Amino acid sequence: MAKEKVIIIGAGLSGSLLAIYLAKRGIECEIYEARGDMRKETMSAGRSINLALSNRGIAALKEVGLDEYMLSEAVPMYGRMIHDVQGNQKLLPYSGRKGEYINSVSRSGLNIALMNEAEKYDGVKFFFNTKCAEFDCKTGEAKLENGEVLKGDCIIGTDGAGSVIRNAMLSDFPRFNYSIQWLEHGYKELHIPPKDLGFGNSDSGLKNFSDELFQMEKNALHIWARGSFMMIALPNFDGSFTCTLFLAHKGENSFEQLVDEKSLMNFFETNFADSISLMPTLTEDFFTNPTGNLGTVKCFPWNVAGKSLLIGDSAHAVVPFYGQGMNASFEDCRILNQLIEQHGTDWEKVFNEFTTVRKPNADAIAQMAEENFYEMRDAVADPVFQKKRELETKLEQTFPDYFSKYSMVTFREDLPYSVAKEKGNAQDKMLMEICAEIDDVSKLDLNEIFENVKTI
Ligand SMILES: Cc1cc2nc3c(=O)[nH]c(=O)nc-3n(C[C@H](O)[C@H](O)[C@H](O)COP(=O)(O)OP(=O)(O)OC[C@H]3O[C@@H](n4cnc5c(N)ncnc54)[C@H](O)[C@@H]3O)c2cc1C
Repeated sequence: MAKEKVIIIGAGLSGSLLAIYLAKRGIECEIYEARGDMRKETMSAGRSINLALSNRGIAALKEVGLDEYMLSEAVPMYGRMIHDVQGNQKLLPYSGRKGEYINSVSRSGLNIALMNEAEKYDGVKFFFNTKCAEFDCKTGEAKLENGEVLKGDCIIGTDGAGSVIRNAMLSDFPRFNYSIQWLEHGYKELHIPPKDLGFGNSDSGLKNFSDELFQMEKNALHIWARGSFMMIALPNFDGSFTCTLFLAHKGENSFEQLVDEKSLMNFFETNFADSISLMPTLTEDFFTNPTGNLGTVKCFPWNVAGKSLLIGDSAHAVVPFYGQGMNASFEDCRILNQLIEQHGTDWEKVFNEFTTVRKPNADAIAQMAEENFYEMRDAVADPVFQKKRELETKLEQTFPDYFSKYSMVTFREDLPYSVAKEKGNAQDKMLMEICAEIDDVSKLDLNEIFENVKTI
């Protein structure tokens, strides 16, 4: 019997991981990628150079044998380091439990590791600089820009938020549900270089002095929360930080107002003064790097019978404020693999069930990601919120079975996003009400609170 062959459109994070899962099952994969091979070419800067990898993503990497390697290349982040306007810093731990933290990983490093692993399998072939131009939902055939027609047993679209496969479904099906909700904020990447320790930061030097290279606390996700806008910074393995400035496109405190060096420096001096001396290339980075858009993509259904399926951002792009877009996409691959284990290559059955199981969870993380924007932007600087985080940390330290909403989303890969959202929202409401009434968290009766939480 001929081997099954799956065509994958897009060799980003989801497409490359999916290829490994399928290849492990002896399924042939051809992966078509619009861009060049990032192992041979330098990719343009400006699009989330690093990403927060957490348990859901790690669970998938573990199944394909890449977890240990990726974690050895990651910088652990134990909490949010809040920078106030005066430059004071305060660490809010992500969890009260040891071993629960998130990891800053290089996007290209991870993508390359996945592609290298996939290529170890005989049945896997990548095609770069090969853009898919069309997909025919009736025949299940995809057409490349060069006119070549691709046909496999099925086609999986892992071609990101602007998916061609999804757009074909939208134009071919009258009742295909599709929406994109743009955020009024965009983002810009900026750079904090490593400290110059005087030996030219050579590779051998980097290894010996790695901790001293960081200009700020290494093991934290830094946040400058300023109400209607914010900046964050994630550490990189080489001692640098990648900062992302989230700002409205238009209006007060917006990208539109930052038109020259003077307006930019005024804005930074007023809002992020402690970061200026850390960013020698601020002006150059700001005016060279692109301003990215942020949006939530929702669609349904995600499959055309057994002919095609959408996975990752092509099915459900989310705003990056929970650090879950990639983690959710990796979870997609893990769940799809489980369904193939159950139903074999009965693609229609697998795809239908995948869509039914994953859609409510994708909707849940999309909503939580939008809400977390407001939490990071406003609430982390709010004293009641800070008391709530303190209380949650105490609860997590005292009761192994207590999980905050953040912990349920980030550290509980066994819990669907939809459950984390429902339970987490009810818990948040209860704890915020308690913290609004008190000055000192240490005077609270933790046992009583935990008993009440258990009733949710
Ligand atoms: C600023 C920012 C920060 C983020 N931070 C985090 C984070 O900390 N943690 C986290 O989990 N997630 C984060 N994300 C989300 C994460 O980047 C995405 O969820 C993830 O990249 C999705 O992977 P994907 O493979 O589905 O799509 P993509 O990464 O977009 O990959 C799609 C691939 O398909 C290719 N392609 C597109 N069209 C075609 C075509 N027609 N033919 C052939 N190839 C095509 C593209 O070139 C690309 O290689 C962040 C996103 C942004 C924007």
